[in-house]
Amino acid sequence: MAKNIFIEIAKVPFKINSGYRCPLHNKNVGGVSNSSHMNIPCNAADIATKDSSTRYKILEALYEVGFTRVGIGETFVHCDTDKLKSQRVCWTYY
Ligand SMILES: [Zn+2]
Repeated sequence: MAKNIFIEIAKVPFKINSGYRCPLHNKNVGGVSNSSHMNIPCNAADIATKDSSTRYKILEALYEVGFTRVGIGETFVHCDTDKLKSQRVCWTYY
């Protein structure tokens, strides 16, 4: 059985700030025009990170389960499984 990424690996709650966005909402929040948040089915999420320790645990868990696309904002971590985009990348939003 697959491990629960929140409970068994990161051991911190994952508060999702953003999942699927319709094109208008994506535009309103300043998302890039080809944002993975607009994919159907959605394969992107922004996870709130309240401090550096939480950010580390979330990143560690994402890498452990195989995420290869991660973005780091000041208060969140983006992750997606968009196979049409570059893999093994970690970008910033600031
Ligand atoms: Zn995102």
